[in-house]
Amino acid sequence: MVLVTKYKLSNAARNAIISFFNKHSKHSTSPLPKNIRQGKEFMNNIKSNLSYKKTKVLDLDNTEYFLYHMLLISCIENILKIPDIAQNLEFEYKELYKTTEDGKKIIYKEQNNGMWWKTAQNSLPIGSKLLSIILYSDATNCDTLGKSQLHPIYMLLGNIPTWQRNKQDAKQLLGYLPIIKTSTKNKPIVRQTFHRCLEVILNPIQKFLHSGTNLLINNKLIWTFPKVSIIIADWSEAATFCLTYKSTNSNHPCHFCLVNRDDLANTTHSKHNLVLRNHENM
Ligand SMILES: [Zn+2]
Repeated sequence: MVLVTKYKLSNAARNAIISFFNKHSKHSTSPLPKNIRQGKEFMNNIKSNLSYKKTKVLDLDNTEYFLYHMLLISCIENILKIPDIAQNLEFEYKELYKTTEDGKKIIYKEQNNGMWWKTAQNSLPIGSKLLSIILYSDATNCDTLGKSQLHPIYMLLGNIPTWQRNKQDAKQLLGYLPIIKTSTKNKPIVRQTFHRCLEVILNPIQKFLHSGTNLLINNKLIWTFPKVSIIIADWSEAATFCLTYKSTNSNHPCHFCLVNRDDLANTTHSKHNLVLRNHENM
């Protein structure tokens, strides 16, 4: 089943693999589910055996919404345990530049070439290291629980060089955010719940804010300060989280203004009637 879900195959291809296995394996009763729908349930059960914490984040209209998540610090430790990764970690700010006719040109290749790293590093006590946490959400990777119910959130470390960071083992599935049915009346609740989820997820590193934590890296204890450096999301997903914009099929299909769908192609529509989106009306 892992093979079937890992490579993001189409449901038809998945079903074909499952039926091939069921037909040609020597098992009299197949250990695999009959099709991908049952397969998703099968993977759900595996997941529940992992140490996902289940936190209720909202009670709305007789429905309970849960955040499923791993402890952020365990995810970090899981990544740091991998020898290939531990050996290549970058902790210090490095200025990278090339000299051109116009003078010195700064190159931003890795996170630790950036000014953020320099500033963040300078704010830490001498002898401690910066651990850069990247959070990202990608619904297209969410094939085990069904896209419509939950939103996966992954984590990476900015200390890992880019070539290595994009490999499968360098990222950890941190958790799943609930997707709440939205109506005009519960928009503020949906937004608050998103922030509540992030608060729960990031809580384990809050306590390291002032004195950091020791992490085992390459058999050595290193004094680190974990900090979130980037949150990455596809634009459409970021818009879903913040409820700023739905889609081109919605009643307000433009992401700059609140033009009605019926007026979108109306060339006589006056610009004075346009209402730009802002943090209140979006
Ligand atoms: Zn517009």
